[in-house]
This record gives sequence, C-alpha cells and structure tokens, in this order.
Amino acid sequence: MTVETRETHGFQAEVQKLLHLMVHSLYSNREIFLRELISNASDAADRLRFEAISAPELLEPDPELKIRIDFDTAARTVSIEDNGIGMSREDTIRQLGTIARSGTGEFLSKMTGEQRRDANLIGQFGVGFYSAFIVADRVEVLTRRAGAPASEGVRWESDGQGEFVIETIDRPERGTRVTLHLREDAAEFADAFRLRALIRKYSDHIAFPVLVKGKSADETEAKEESANDAKALWTRPRSEVSTEEYLEFYKHIAHDFQDPLTWSHNKVEGKHEYTSLLYIPAHAPWDLWNRSGSRHLKLYVKRVFIMDDAEQFLPLYLRFVRGVVDSSDLSLNVSRELLQQDAVVETMRGAITRRVLDTLDKLAKEEPEKYAIFWKEFGRVLKEGPAEDHGNRQRIAGLLRFSSTADDNPVPARSLADYVAARNTASDDPLASQKVIWYLTADSFNAARSSPHLEVFRKNGIEVLLLTDNIDEWLVSHLHDFDGWEFRDVKRGDLPAEKPAQDGGEEKPAATEHGALIERIRKQLEAQVSEVRATTRLTESPACLVLGEYELGAQMRKLMQATGQAVPESKPILEINPAHPLLQRLDAEQHEARFADLARLIFDQASLAEGGQLEDPGAFVQRLNRILLG
Ligand code: ADP
Ligand code: MG
Repeated sequence: MTVETRETHGFQAEVQKLLHLMVHSLYSNREIFLRELISNASDAADRLRFEAISAPELLEPDPELKIRIDFDTAARTVSIEDNGIGMSREDTIRQLGTIARSGTGEFLSKMTGEQRRDANLIGQFGVGFYSAFIVADRVEVLTRRAGAPASEGVRWESDGQGEFVIETIDRPERGTRVTLHLREDAAEFADAFRLRALIRKYSDHIAFPVLVKGKSADETEAKEESANDAKALWTRPRSEVSTEEYLEFYKHIAHDFQDPLTWSHNKVEGKHEYTSLLYIPAHAPWDLWNRSGSRHLKLYVKRVFIMDDAEQFLPLYLRFVRGVVDSSDLSLNVSRELLQQDAVVETMRGAITRRVLDTLDKLAKEEPEKYAIFWKEFGRVLKEGPAEDHGNRQRIAGLLRFSSTADDNPVPARSLADYVAARNTASDDPLASQKVIWYLTADSFNAARSSPHLEVFRKNGIEVLLLTDNIDEWLVSHLHDFDGWEFRDVKRGDLPAEKPAQDGGEEKPAATEHGALIERIRKQLEAQVSEVRATTRLTESPACLVLGEYELGAQMRKLMQATGQAVPESKPILEINPAHPLLQRLDAEQHEARFADLARLIFDQASLAEGGQLEDPGAFVQRLNRILLG
C-alpha cells in the first residue's frame, strides 16, 4: 500500500510499564498468552454475531464463526485468527496502544518498585493482548472491520519495546489475525501437540470451534482439526463441567487472573427459562467504588451474546458479581432501554439476587476462610444492601460481619446470628430477654475497644458490636432489627435497668443523691451540654457523653458534613460517675476557678474519649497545666 499510511506510534506510558512487568513476572506462566488471544478472538466472534442480528449481511461470505490457530515450527511462528468483528485503523491504535481497562493505569502508577516485581499483583487484572509479548519478540496483527471494504485492512506490528507501526493494507478477509514471532526460548509453542493440549486446558469452553493446523519441523502438515468442545460452557449440565473448566471460563469472562472464591450455575425452567452462571471474585475490581461504573454480567439470548454489562439483572450492592445470564425468553433485539421495562427481566433480577445471596450464605457456612476474604473485599458494598433492597434486608443482615467485644478481633468476623445465639445462651445475661443488639460506633477498633461506654456492659458480661466503618450507623438505621432483635446504640438515651423491676424500688435514684454537685457542674457547662446526670454506664471512667434518643450519631454527622448537608446543632448529655475520685475531688473543690477548670477538663476528656475534637485545644492545655501545677 501507499507509504503515507504507515505511521509509528509510541505506546501509552502505562503500556510500556505493563509490558515490561508482564514479560518479567509472568515468565513461569507464559502459556497463558494463548488463552488471552483465543479469548479475544472469541469476544470478537461474539460481537460480530451480535451485530449480525440487525445486519445479517455482515456474516457474508463467511458465515461460520471460528478461530484458527496455525503454526510453523521451522519459522517459529504461531498465528491466532478469527473471522469476527475485526478492527478499524482507529480501533487498532486505541485498543492495542493504550490500556483498555480503566483503572489499570492508575493502579500501575501507584505500585512501588518492589510490588512491580510481584507476579501476584499483575494477576489482579487481566493481562489481555499484551501477554503475546511474553513469548514473542515481534507481534504482527492483520485486521479488518466486518462490513468495511477490503482496502481498509490494517497492519499493526510491534516488538513490544515502546513503539508500534501501523499501516493500511488490503485485506480481503474480515476479522483479525495475530501472528507471534516466538522468542527462541518459546519455540516449543509452535507445535500441534502442545497447542492442542493448551487449548483443551484453557479454552475448551470457548463457544466457537478452535481449529489447529500447521507445519511441523519434519515438514509434515498437521491436518486442521478442532481442538475444543465448542459448546458454550453454561449450556452444559453442571455434572459435566469440571472445576478447572469453571475456573478457566471465569478467567475468560472476567478478565481476571485469579481464581474466583465460588460460583453458582443454574438452569431455571418453567415460566421463564434462563441459565445463570454467577461468580464471586476473590478481589475487588478497580472500579468497585464507581457506582455508575459498569456491572459485569454478560447477557446472552439463546446463546447469542448481547452485551457485556447487563446492569438490569443485579442490584448495585451486588455489583461485584461476574458471570453470564442466558435467557430463552428475551428477544434477540433487546436494547438496554427495553430491558429496563421488561417484566421478565424484573423477575430474573429478583431470582438472580436471591441466588447470589444464597451463594454467599453457603460460602459463609461452608468455607468461612473464603468468606472472610469476600467480606474484606466486598463487605462494604454489601452494606449498601439493606437500604437499596429492603425486601432482602434480613438475608443481607445474616451476611454482615462486625467486630465485637466478644472476640476482640479487629477483623470483623462476628455475625448477627453469632451475637444473638451467644446472648441467648449466656446464663448470666441480665438483659437477654429484652432482645436488643447493642452496638458502639467509633472511628477505629482500638478507639471502640477502649470506649468508657463499654464499662457497664463489660461488668455485666453483655456483648457489644463494635462498628468502625463510617457507614455502619447508616446501615444499622436501615436494618432496624435482626430476627426480632432491635439495634441500640450504647451511647444513646437511658440504659435499661440492669435488673428486672422487682428490686428497682429499693434503689435510690443516684440523681437526687448527688443533686448539688450535678447542679454545680451544669452551671459551669451550660454552653457545652444539654444535661448533666449521674451515670448508669460507667464503672471506671469519671464521665462520658451520651446522645439523646433521636440525635444523629457522630458518623452520620460526618457523612452529612462530607456531602455538604446542614447538620443540626446538638448538645450531648454529660454523665458523671460520682464514685470516681476525680468527681469526689470536684465535689470537695471550694475554689470556684479551680472548679471551673476541673469541670471543663472532665467534659473535654469525655469528648476526647469519644473520638471527638476539642473546640479549643490551646485552652484545654492551659487548663490542664493549671490543674497539674495547682
Ligand atoms: P480485553 O479483552 O480485556 O478488552 P485485551 O488486552 O485482551 O483486553 O484486548 C484489548 C482490546 O483489543 C479488546 O477490548 C478489543 O477491543 C481489541 N481486540 C483484541 N483482540 C481482538 C480481536 N481478535 N478482534 C477484535 N478486537 C480485538
Ligand atoms: Mg482480552
């Protein structure tokens, strides 16, 4: 072709890093290049079949979609060719010159030198097309977009060292041919036996025939033969699919190098007919926090690929699920808009949601170590569930994990069922019959664990959940209860009497006993607190701050502030522990200025113990020093 169509481009900076990293870190795993290239060929065939629904002429004159692998042992080449959708010149520059998956570039730029050498890290995202350079020192791509004229063929070539060359060529065939010029030490891959074995291992589930042929070293031609099953994996009965096949299929659809934690494969028959194959990944994708980001369920209709991110089939709080849904009821012409209004889709969404919750429940029960990984990676997303999906609130509640005073574990591992069971069976729990799940919110596990609010609960052996995630208070407000047990904040309102009412009459209300002291403190702290009272909460600390029953908690206030909402003014209640020596000293203090300093210090330290901020830290220090010296 004409010279002026030939251009040399530099790779995007991240691509260079990725290439370098990949060649070095995946060396011992280099055979995966074949899986990646066949996966791309299969995607391309899927896309063409989809476009052909409305434009059948795209399939002519070569309607049978397939993938061909050929090799030449003497020339040390392997080619992977498909008659799928192909690429235009612009597609080729963009898709093969930049990093397609969002977040990968950002991820790479954050990695330290040490991490860059870590093969596990690179495994956290799909490696894709560039894996060709693990085995090849030169890669040539010939391609043409389906439907474009032969004169719009494209040739792309690179040695993976920072630049690629692109030119327009004549290409009568549609689709893409990727030719690998193998490195000397990768010559073994130009071999019929090796290639077939790899295809069976990695790509048996590919829904198009993968044909292998080529010229061996002794010049004998390997006849073209299909090396795979060519049956969409999810259409096969569960009993006939091996674990390895499920794992490989996951890698194909999820572009994920790591094994998933678990999966669920189901064929639903009856009123609606569909098959779902749903995977729970072992790590969070880069766009997990982008709520408008894509969800990753592929939709097929009667085995024809329709779209990659069918968001209508899953609620947002399950956006980590990867997999395939294949419906027999939907029309091949469905669009996103139609899906949104379709009653069949609505029913499927409900069933798929329950299926995922079941799968998680089973994982939690049968493989708790794996569930712990799930919780670490996705627990926070699942916490969005009760607000989004009120109907499944109780089932989601069963999947939640928290830290607790019972197991003293900073890793949240306590379920609500554990909590209720422990309270129900504790023989000496004076409050078990009230069916209250007590919780404390704090900024961190350590802050929670040393909160003065836990004192009375510790004394009585009552478990308290420690909620340290900044959305926990919001979560609990949407949960309302678990199995009839209501949630209550230990920092709020009046605590129920420790003992049932019968001997309540004998107890003197502490407030009248210490009325004078309380009144003196109240006068001093009028600007800071709404009320001063004798505590039922503390056994060791001098004082603590309590919220009114309907006040917003600190987490909610912070969340609202962060989103720019007005936060209502509120003053806490100060509860004092009159038995504490500091309060006794305060009571005995005749000197008014010293009384004022001490009262304010007691308030400030209670506020600090809550994880609160001092209004005037300088004044606090001066007061403290006056007391220390005085
Ligand atoms: P991914 O497959 O995860 O998108 P890859 O690195 O494997 O990432 O491929 C990058 C992109 O290059 C693909 O998304 C696709 O647009 C394009 N591509 C790669 N191989 C082919 C092919 N055989 N036919 C058409 N397009 C392809
Ligand atoms: Mg790919």
